[in-house]
Amino acid sequence: MPRLSRRLFLAASAALAARPAAGAVTPGNAVYDVVIVGAGAAGIAAARKIAAARRKFVLIEAADHIGGRCITDTRTFGVPYDRGAHWIHVPDFNPVTKLAARRGLEVYPAPPSQKVRIGRRYAREGELEDFLALQVRADRGIADAARKGDVACAQALPNDLGDWRPAIEFVLGPFGCGKELAQVSAVDFAKSIERNADAFCRQGFGALIAGFAEGIAVKLSTPATLIDMRRDVLVETPNGTISARTAIVTVSTNVIASGAVKFTPELPKRQLDAFAKLSLGSYDHIALELSGNPLGFESDDLVFEKSADTHTAAILANVAGTPLCLIEVAGTFGRELASQGEAAMVNFAADWLAGLYGADLKKAIKRSHATRWNNEPWALGAFSAAAPGGQGARRILMEPMQNSVWFAGEAVHETMWGTVGGAWESGERAADAVLRRLGPVKEPPPEASVSTKRKPPPRKL
Ligand SMILES: Cc1cc2nc3c(=O)[nH]c(=O)nc-3n(C[C@H](O)[C@H](O)[C@H](O)COP(=O)(O)OP(=O)(O)OC[C@H]3O[C@@H](n4cnc5c(N)ncnc54)[C@H](O)[C@@H]3O)c2cc1C
Repeated sequence: MPRLSRRLFLAASAALAARPAAGAVTPGNAVYDVVIVGAGAAGIAAARKIAAARRKFVLIEAADHIGGRCITDTRTFGVPYDRGAHWIHVPDFNPVTKLAARRGLEVYPAPPSQKVRIGRRYAREGELEDFLALQVRADRGIADAARKGDVACAQALPNDLGDWRPAIEFVLGPFGCGKELAQVSAVDFAKSIERNADAFCRQGFGALIAGFAEGIAVKLSTPATLIDMRRDVLVETPNGTISARTAIVTVSTNVIASGAVKFTPELPKRQLDAFAKLSLGSYDHIALELSGNPLGFESDDLVFEKSADTHTAAILANVAGTPLCLIEVAGTFGRELASQGEAAMVNFAADWLAGLYGADLKKAIKRSHATRWNNEPWALGAFSAAAPGGQGARRILMEPMQNSVWFAGEAVHETMWGTVGGAWESGERAADAVLRRLGPVKEPPPEASVSTKRKPPPRKL
């Protein structure tokens, strides 16, 4: 992971400088109104709301940078490379787009169409129409099934998808949800907001989110290890214990399920089950620098393969007009490939592209990099998709614990789950709930009414 500007955030760390040693804090005497755990999209959104309400808060982050699963790396390729989220889905509704315009960053619409590679050629118009029409039918099949009850999306697919089935299963399953359709709840899928328009940020989605954190104090390299909710909230970290009246916890479902953050009292089974049902799928970028645009891609071309099986990927080519091409691998195949390491991932991408475009393409590959989100200790995966029967888990995670701890993050959103917009909105909602619980800020009395100074005598004219 690239390091973002530490300077920006170090100044803010002073807020914790006078922290007491671990274990030395007594409950009932909270230093902060709110402790926010995790400085990804949800944590940043929550912090902005709490700051605007003039409540005393501290934002702690386990990693040495902010952004979480939405981070832009400008070092590896010398151009913005989003290692996590890149697509701004449904920009008209996305809370982050509304704010982007004010930050001087360029958000532009993604091309509306996609291409499909069939062996060494592109799909003809009629074939593309078939592909898109079958995708719509598959979507409808899932929505119809979801109205009757919750089943796996795979069970709801129409039977007559013919030889397009593997490609459609890839697009809706691994590419869209990070999981095979057999592992995804039809109700969760159907509730998800239709992503019929997208946008990109030319400087990177991660840069956009990091910009929103400007001026907000973040305590980096400070993982929460224990959250004690018995009276107020005590958050233990290797750097000391933080006491607050409330907490907003935005760490990923897989991190919570791994037990990396303990709770006292222990989380009830209801919540533990909810985290387990919302496990993160697998989704990674294999980033290749293809010099000289040897394949004649247009800017931000999205290309799928009419594949015969699950060993496939998607291409996002010439990202924002640069030589950067992202080969997207996901689901079970992506997970297995990523577990073999970066070299195996880059080899797969080169061979797969060579199969579609010819072996000469390999000569054009310059620098490369592959993300491995399942191995990132503070994420442990890409994004959540509910297991069949598990959609209700998202609402369960909206319930506060002990009326003092709220969960937030992409998993805690019913229609924009798995996205930065969903994470952002859930962070804002959690902040609103916390602010309601804390009540109005008591205004200090106007200076005049507390002044004990005597008024100066009227000036003699
Ligand atoms: C490869 C990839 C591609 C994606 N593509 C898109 C896309 O195109 N569009 C889109 O909208 N979404 C996309 N997503 C999903 C999107 O990135 C996430 O939904 C979103 O960023 C999640 O934000 P969050 O705040 O909920 O969680 P996170 O970003 O995970 O933030 C949680 C923060 O908590 C920190 N943390 C963890 N444990 C602790 C601890 N113990 N103590 C303190 N801090 C801790 C983490 O380091 C992290 O910074 C993608 C994700 C991946 C991985």
